[in-house]
This record gives sequence, C-alpha cells and structure tokens, in this order.
Amino acid sequence: MSFLSVVNPANEQQITSIELFDLDETDRAIKRAAHVASTWRAVSPADRARLLRRFSDVVGAHIEELAQLEVANSGHTIGNARWEAGNVRDVLAYYSGAPERHAGKQIPVAGGVDLTFYEPLGVVGIIVPWNFPMPIASWGFAPALAAGNTVVLKPATLTPLTAMRLGELGLEAGLPEGAFQVLPGDGAVVGWRFVTHEAVRKVCFTGSTDMGKRIMAGCAEQVKRVTLELGGKSANIIFADSDLERAAASAPSAVFDNAGQDCCARSRILVEATAYDRFMELFEHAVRQFRVQDPTDEAAEMGPLISAGQRASVDSYVQGAKVAFAGSAPAGPGYWYPPTVLESADGRDRAFRDEIFGPVVSVLRFEGEAEAIKIANDSPFGLSGSIWTRNVGRALRVARGVETGALSVNSNSSVRYATPFGGYKQSGIGRELGPDALRSFSEEKNVFISTEE
Ligand code: NAD
Repeated sequence: MSFLSVVNPANEQQITSIELFDLDETDRAIKRAAHVASTWRAVSPADRARLLRRFSDVVGAHIEELAQLEVANSGHTIGNARWEAGNVRDVLAYYSGAPERHAGKQIPVAGGVDLTFYEPLGVVGIIVPWNFPMPIASWGFAPALAAGNTVVLKPATLTPLTAMRLGELGLEAGLPEGAFQVLPGDGAVVGWRFVTHEAVRKVCFTGSTDMGKRIMAGCAEQVKRVTLELGGKSANIIFADSDLERAAASAPSAVFDNAGQDCCARSRILVEATAYDRFMELFEHAVRQFRVQDPTDEAAEMGPLISAGQRASVDSYVQGAKVAFAGSAPAGPGYWYPPTVLESADGRDRAFRDEIFGPVVSVLRFEGEAEAIKIANDSPFGLSGSIWTRNVGRALRVARGVETGALSVNSNSSVRYATPFGGYKQSGIGRELGPDALRSFSEEKNVFISTEE
C-alpha cells in the first residue's frame, strides 16, 4: 500500500494524502465489477434510468462541494469548477433517458424475422487525465452505466479527489455496490491493469497521444474495445470579414481557459493578413485584461498550472520564441504562468506545432481560404477549432475542409453533452457524448428466427 500527497497547485500546500490502489486491490475491484455486471445488466431499463436520474440529482445537490474540491485539487477557477460539476449532473440526466431508448432493429429479410439487440460489454475501464477530472470521468461512466456495464475508473494521480467523491455519491444514489468503483492509483499499475485484465472488455482512455498509442497497442492483444481522446493543437481561424472585435475578445478564453490545459485549446490563431494588425491590437487589449488570480476568487478567469513540472514544460516553449505580448500572473507560491502570445514566422517552430498544454498561443498570418485550411490541417492532431467569418458559404466550406472532430463557427464552444465529441487523426478514435454514445459501450447481436415450417 502506498500513499500520495495531494497538493493545491495555487499555493503548493498539501490538502490531504490518499491511499493508492495496488495491483491486488485493482484485481479485487475488477473481480467485484465483473461479478456485479450480471446483476446490473438485469436491472430493468426503467429502473436503471431511475437510478441514473437519482445519481444526477445527488450530484446536483453537491455542486458547490464538488466545485470547491476541484478548485483546491486542480486550481480551476470557481466559475469553471461549478460548470464542471453541473456538467456531470447534466450528463447523468441526459443518459438516464438512454436505457429505455437503446433499441435494436427489426430488419426485413427472407424466410423469417431478424432482430438486433444491444448488449452490455461487461466491465468498462475508464482512465482520466488531470485537466478536467469531473466532466471527462462522467462522459465515460454515465453512458457506460446506462448501457448496462459496470465501471472501474482511474482518476489522474494528481487529481483524484472529485472522482473519489463521485464514487461515494453514486452509492448514496443507490447504485449497487461495485457497479461504479473509483480506483486512485498509478497509471502503470491501475490503468495498465485495465488494459491487461481479461474481464475488462473496454478501455476509455483520455490523455496524451503517446500514452494513447501504448494503450491501443496493449488493448490489441485481446482485441479489446478502446476509445481514445487524445491531444490537440486546434486552430482559431479568423477571416478579415469577421466580427474582429468579438473574435479578439473571446480568443483569450478560447486558449487560456483552464490555464490552457485543455485538449480543445485554440492554441494556433490564424489571422487573414489584411486583418492581422487590427486583430493583434484588439487581442493584446483582451489578453492584458484577462484575470489570472486566486481561483477561489469569483472574478478569476484563469488559475495556476497543475504542477511545477507542467510549468517547466510550458516555459521551455517560450524560451527563445518571439513573444508578442503577455498578460500577468501572481507571484509567490503556486504554479503560475502568465498568458503568453507568440508570433510564428512560418508555422514550422516547435511552439506552433506541439501541444503545449499551457497558456501559450502562437499567431500566424494567412492569405485566403485555401491557405487557412492547409495550415490548419498541417498537424498530426485534429480535435477542435473555430472559424470566424460573416460569410456563411465560406464558414461551411472551411468547416468541411478542416480535418477535426468538433468545430465551431463564430464561437469557441466545443463541448455539449448532447452532441458528439472526439478527434480526427492522432487526436483519437471514437466519439463520446451525443445521442449515439451508448453504441460504443454495447455489443450488437443479430438473431435470425426462421418462420419456415
Ligand atoms: P497522460 O497520458 O499522462 O495520463 C492520462 C491518464 O493515463 C492518467 O490517469 C495517467 O495516470 C494514466 N496513465 C499513465 N501511465 C499509464 C499506463 N502505463 N497505463 C495506463 N494508464 C496510464 O495525460 P495527462 O497529462 O493526464 O493529460 C493531458 C493530455 O490529455 C493532453 O495531451 C490532452 O490533450 C489530453 N486530453 C485529451 C482530451 C480529449 O478529449 N481529446 C481531453 C482532455 C485531455
């Protein structure tokens, strides 16, 4: 048994220390989940729906507690943390409608009747990163449970507290013991066991692209189902015919929200050459006003980075780069870093190409639609992005041309629980959320019944 000290990234103080699961405990939890799977799948769709609705209500009654816990553990601003806890409530409420609607088909065939059934996979293992501990957990566990699976969930080592509390709230709501278990522990121990244990029939992994590749290769051994939500380097494409004031005013939060530790961060800003100078002027004003401060403060727009290691990694991209301007950040304890804007000469520099996962954005100019699409697509990633223009035809042409999974026009919003979310290329495989999420947590069985005498 080992213990982990959990630290508040805004002041570097220890909050608590938690016990980490070892291999034996992980195996026992998976065994329990496999045992309960046969009971859980037999719960009628209406009762499963009722339990998920109750789980949603219980989370709804604990929004403030969960939000405060996230502020302390992850340094998220209190406003964001309340949204994140509310997102868990809403995702559960949305998928509570799913068990009674997860219907198969009757397909016309010769000589009989053909039926398809959706059946649960069994145990689903969910591995969560540290940047959005609550929402990302729920995007896996809510549809997985709705589809009749049991869940073992490993939070990121740095940010386990809200997931652990959600596990308790699930029990309080009446989920059967063992249906939804949260296992804090090391990735290499607990997370990897989800990959190698035969009773775990699917792994949902959200995290870095490098680790995602290893998870996928490991799952291939058992032809285990896998959903991967990985890195991003999304483009915010700003045409000269757009509402430049709006585009510039919202560009800081599109990349600096959650201190840039967001897979959907619009960390490459592409600006049409004729609007470049005006945009930069407006953008500088917005960046300098962006409030980086104590995340418990209601007015805070950005808090600290998650760790000293993350801060050093982010800073390595800024050293030697051409800084156009930067915002401010508190001095003193905490893993603070100011919002920083770099100018890229040709889009070939490391800061323009790598996922930095911090409050650093690179700006590059382009000439015309074709070049904007070419630059946006010149990346191994393809998760998110924005297009700013007043020309509807152009908005659609560019949206269809950019190879990413979740785009927005005249907006920077990427995530709604009712719409699918996921990446192209090395940003991932599969989709989470939206009306079809249960399919990736189900097997589809086909049964033909002969009507011949
Ligand atoms: P990470 O890959 O380091 O870790 C993710 C999770 O994997 C953690 O829980 C970690 O403990 C676990 N892990 C580590 N080693 C493991 C192993 N050997 N076997 C199994 N699990 C293991 O990623 P991170 O630093 O926590 O998160 C940041 C990354 O996540 C960024 O690249 C970001 O873009 C990505 N991300 C993607 C999305 C998306 O939806 N596409 C969302 C959020 C974050």
